[in-house]
Amino acid sequence: MKNNFFDISEEIVELGSKAEEKARSYFKRIDEITEYNQLKMLKAFQNARVSESCFTPSTGYGYGDRGREVLDQIFAEVLDTEDALVRHNFASGTHTLTVALFGVLRPGDTMVSVTGVPYDTLQGVIGLGGESSGSLKEFGINYEQVDLLPDGKIDYEGIKKAVKPDTKMVYIQRSRGYSLRPTLLISDIKKIAALAKSIAPNCIVMLDNCYGEFVEMEAPGAYIDLMAGSLIKNPGGGIAPTGGYIAGRKKLVEDCSYRLTTPGTGKEIGCTLNQSRELFMGAFNAPHVTGEALKTAVFAAVLFEQLGFEVTPKYDEIRGDIIQAILLGNEERLIKFCQGIQAASPIDSFVTPEPWDMPGYDSKVIMAAGAFTLGSSIELSADAPLREPYAVWMQGGLNFHSGKTAVLLAAEKMKGFV
Ligand SMILES: *Cc1c(COP(=O)(O)O)cnc(C)c1O
Repeated sequence: MKNNFFDISEEIVELGSKAEEKARSYFKRIDEITEYNQLKMLKAFQNARVSESCFTPSTGYGYGDRGREVLDQIFAEVLDTEDALVRHNFASGTHTLTVALFGVLRPGDTMVSVTGVPYDTLQGVIGLGGESSGSLKEFGINYEQVDLLPDGKIDYEGIKKAVKPDTKMVYIQRSRGYSLRPTLLISDIKKIAALAKSIAPNCIVMLDNCYGEFVEMEAPGAYIDLMAGSLIKNPGGGIAPTGGYIAGRKKLVEDCSYRLTTPGTGKEIGCTLNQSRELFMGAFNAPHVTGEALKTAVFAAVLFEQLGFEVTPKYDEIRGDIIQAILLGNEERLIKFCQGIQAASPIDSFVTPEPWDMPGYDSKVIMAAGAFTLGSSIELSADAPLREPYAVWMQGGLNFHSGKTAVLLAAEKMKGFV
């Protein structure tokens, strides 16, 4: 179909149609996963007997807030866990993961990360690399790490050596984050968890589940003990304005709730203000929106491979998260790509992203984001540090139609630089 609204050349429109045709055969798999997870979500709403009264805002201590309790129940059900703690009070994914780590680790415990160095923002939480006041390290929690193999795969032999019978936590990061290693699949998580438990039966297998929710048919809850994620990614469905969730074994979730509020009050307090309706609505939409983001990613993988770029994952790979990396090879293309994504955003389409010196990064970074929610990455966004191999990480897309146009515009803007 001709695109009359955006300035995209015949040539790119043509290439886009071919790419879409090819992508469509992989959309079928995405649709099957989406439908399964969407119906699982619908059933969870019904099982929890959601009614309009669940959206009633509470204030103050928030005692007896039914919506809060029901939402916890829904998340537990769709993630296959015993219990969950879903709160708008979690300020970010990092905050949520931090509450989970501090909630269950105690002085003298050892945490072993088995997927290499954790996501950037967690390094200060753990106490890696220099001073970080209030870190786990400062509270006497030891940290060990099993690096990924040179090809980015899990080092099972390394895990066997690093995990001891008294290891308290085995920590897994599912998503590639902003690296080029492969994302873990549920089958990998299952294998790591089984290995960890065979050595340390009482250890807590903890998962950073960011970007992974509803991407596969199976949820990780059956294999791990505790997980956490952000509501401005997949499980917020593009509607939750902030928040996070922790889910897992009942006792562990309870311990986390004592850290979020206080020992003794735990899940019993925490008013929802006027947030519940959006968190419910976001959760309900989350499986579908995740599917749309996956379609946008697959479409981009096909198109940019056709344009001659290396992409990861490839269009036909089984995906474990919504991230698509494209190796663009030089600075000009990165900048043009991000400007194209920005130009197709519903918000701030008129601004031009430029590289800047972001605190904590050793090279300049460029970001495209035109989102309803600040920092939301279930809405279409792209980020790229200006350094070799000049890769851009693209994720999200509330609907495939606008996501596709953004990808086409990115290709269009890059055209003179290919
Ligand atoms: C997004 C993300 C986090 C948390 O990030 P915030 O920016 O704090 O929300 C943690 N781990 C991974 C793998 C992520 O993708």
